[in-house]
Amino acid sequence: MPTTTRIALVTGASSGIGEAVAHRLAAEGHHVVAAARRTDRLAALAARTADLPGTVEPAALDVTDRAAVAALVDRTVAEHGRLDVLVNNAGVMPLSRLDALLTDEWDRMIDVNVRGLLHGIAAALPHMLRRERGHVVTVASVGAHQVSPTAAVYCATKYAARAVTEGLRLEAPPGIRVTTVSPGVVETELATTITDPVAREAMRAYRAHAIPPEAVADAVAYAIGQPDGVDVNEIVVRPVQQR
Ligand code: NDP
Repeated sequence: MPTTTRIALVTGASSGIGEAVAHRLAAEGHHVVAAARRTDRLAALAARTADLPGTVEPAALDVTDRAAVAALVDRTVAEHGRLDVLVNNAGVMPLSRLDALLTDEWDRMIDVNVRGLLHGIAAALPHMLRRERGHVVTVASVGAHQVSPTAAVYCATKYAARAVTEGLRLEAPPGIRVTTVSPGVVETELATTITDPVAREAMRAYRAHAIPPEAVADAVAYAIGQPDGVDVNEIVVRPVQQR
C-alpha cells in the first residue's frame, strides 16, 4: 500500500451517505472497512468498487453493541496495523411529535445516534492516542444546529453528537484531527425510518429539495484530505433551497 493510503472505518456504509463516503474513499485509494448490519448491501458495494484503486472490506456491525464495535476496531488495527480514520455515520431518524409518545423510537435514536457514536470513539481513541495520530469524523446534521417540530429527540441526539465531537476535538492531542459534518436534506433512505404519519407528512415538503449523498462524501473527503496540521472542524452542507 502507498504511504498515503489511509485505513478508514465507516459506520452505516450499507446505504446513503456512508455508502457514498466508502465509495469516495476507495476511489481515492484508501482501504475502507465498510460496516453496517445489512451485509448483503456491503458485499454489493465491495463488488461495485472492486475496480477502484482502494478497497472496500465489508464488516457486519451493530453500533449499539459496544463490544462488537471494539472488536471490529481491534481487528482492523490487528490486520492493517492502524486505524487512520473513523467516520461515525450510522444513524436513524424516526421522527415524531413528543406527544405521540413513541418512546421506543426515542430510545432507538439515542442508542444508535449517541451511544453508537460513543462506542466508536471508545473503541478507536486508545489506538489513535497510542500513535498520536488519527482522524474522527462525525456525520451530525443541521439538526445539531436548530430544532424543528417532530424532530426534538432526533435533534437532541445530533446536538449530543456535535457536542461530543467538539469535546473530543478540544481534548485530543495535536496529531488527532476531529471533524463534524452537518448535512441538510440528503437523498437517502433515512426518512424511511419514520413510522409516525404526522411526521411523515411534514417531512414530505421539508425533503422536497435534497442533495445527493456524494455531496456529503465530498465534504468528508475534503476534511480527510487536508495536510497534517490542518483540521477542518465543521462543515455544514445543504441544498441551496434549504433555510
Ligand atoms: P440511510 O438510512 O441511507 O443510512 C443509514 C445507515 O446507518 C445505514 O447504512 C444503516 O445500515 C446504518 N445503521 C442504522 N442503524 C445501525 C446500527 N444499529 N448499526 C450499524 N449501522 C446502522 O441514511 P443517511 O445516509 O442519510 O444517514 C447517514 C447519517 O447522516 C445519519 O447519521 C443521519 O442522521 C445523517 N444525516 C442524514 C441526513 C439526510 O437528509 N439524509 C441529513 C442530516 C444528517 P444498516 O441498516 O445496514 O445497519
